[in-house]
Amino acid sequence: MAERTLRGSRLGSISYETDRNAEPAARQTSEYRCPKGHNFTVPFSDEADVPLVWECRLDGSIAKLVNGAEAETKKGKPPRTHWDMLLERRSVADLEEVLAERLEHLRGRRSRSA
Ligand SMILES: [Zn+2]
Repeated sequence: MAERTLRGSRLGSISYETDRNAEPAARQTSEYRCPKGHNFTVPFSDEADVPLVWECRLDGSIAKLVNGAEAETKKGKPPRTHWDMLLERRSVADLEEVLAERLEHLRGRRSRSA
């Protein structure tokens, strides 16, 4: 009786194929962080193009891919910093002169107020 029940189980009609295939499929997990500081991960297929932004599950704001921007900018020119722009206008020697002037000014003001 027990054996017959087993044989009569609906193995044929239920497809286990989906579960079996889903598990070993290559996956990548991408981490996102929203402006409010929520961190969450989204699993993607290895072949999928991981989007740079994803809607935060907690507040619906636009979360950015963690480490994603870094990988993107590596392809192009690195973004110019304020320091880079400053160096385009002045040499380090110039800046040191300005700094010395500025410090002198500050010291003078402090001694005047003291
Ligand atoms: Zn959020």
